[in-house]
Amino acid sequence: MSHLNVRQATAVIAEIAAPSGGRVALHEPQFSGAEWEYVKECLDTGWVSSVGSFVDRFESDLAAACAVKRAVVVVNGTAALHIALLMAGVRRGDEVLTPALTFVATANAIAHCGAIPHFVDSSWQTLGLDPQGLSDWLARIAEPDIDGPRNRITGRRLAAIVPMHTFGHPVDMPGLLEVANRWGLPVVEDAAESLGSLQDGRPLGGRGLVGATSFNGNKIITTGGGGAILTNDDALADRAKHLTTTAKAPHRWAFSHDEIAFNYRMPNINAALGCAQLQKLPAFLRAKRALAKRYSEALAGLAGLRFFAEPHGAESNYWLNAIILDDPAQRDEFLATSNDAGIMTRPCWTLMCDLPMYRECPQMELPVARAIVSRLVNIPSSAALGLTSNV
Ligand SMILES: *Cc1c(COP(=O)(O)O)cnc(C)c1O
Repeated sequence: MSHLNVRQATAVIAEIAAPSGGRVALHEPQFSGAEWEYVKECLDTGWVSSVGSFVDRFESDLAAACAVKRAVVVVNGTAALHIALLMAGVRRGDEVLTPALTFVATANAIAHCGAIPHFVDSSWQTLGLDPQGLSDWLARIAEPDIDGPRNRITGRRLAAIVPMHTFGHPVDMPGLLEVANRWGLPVVEDAAESLGSLQDGRPLGGRGLVGATSFNGNKIITTGGGGAILTNDDALADRAKHLTTTAKAPHRWAFSHDEIAFNYRMPNINAALGCAQLQKLPAFLRAKRALAKRYSEALAGLAGLRFFAEPHGAESNYWLNAIILDDPAQRDEFLATSNDAGIMTRPCWTLMCDLPMYRECPQMELPVARAIVSRLVNIPSSAALGLTSNV
């Protein structure tokens, strides 16, 4: 294990992220396209709220960008994941397999269905769910039953698998789908961080039955707040649209609703932002890959850390760049030194199974997830840093 010179590492990152000095954020949005024009159009026409032409346009543009048949846009990524799970048949009292290493929204969406997250370990190759580890774990604890596999220990039904593409790096989806198909489990992709990422040349989000993405302010494109359900299944998309728009029966004037549903629709003004941001996605992706390349090259010479590179077969969006320290004992020293220098760096999330509300949930041993949390640090990643860099 080599020693990291935290001052030198901070200086190398600062030279790329803040070449003229000053403070630099972890991830900032950029509005350099048609955002003003489209939002102004909403204000000028009065179409700011729950319906409007930008909603339909954003849904079709997004479906094309994600190479899925349909996209249904909603208020945020958590809501998208909530509906995606309901569409996959997740019900109260079920267990849903998901990585312990994720943002809290993944586990919360499972809990919003009345289901219980069941935490599985991650992979050093992808930072996401490890299909082989999951397969071995299921062989130990699961048994087939009439309505799907069951957890032998808790007696609960296992209803779905929710992989998450950490910081934009694709999970091994072919490996995961093989395990899922073998057990008859639907896959609900949490693609909140991976818009624009490719695996074997294809976008993420539409590999499983249904996927969800997010347009929160810190994501690769933003609508202020927003999310989308992604699927190749028309009937599922129609049902998701119905359930996210108060389950109103179409009629010229009558208010008739046929089930208890949600008001999760994305307002037109947010969709207007989304249409403009999506046009910039290819430029953001180029900039972020250029930035990742600069970090990778500049950090290669330093002892005690490595830059996390996209997994084999992937073309990642590098939403958040990450470095892995050799020595976990130096993580907080590096965080303190870099943040003191105005370079915003952040550790990984606390593992879900260590949060008070999810402490009692079923879980496998999590040696890799724990090691990743102890050693990983995110470094400044805004697209603007790649655009302004002289590459
Ligand atoms: C951002 C994010 C979400 C969704 O978050 P919202 O803020 O509700 O849009 C879900 N899962 C992961 C892993 C995320 O990073």
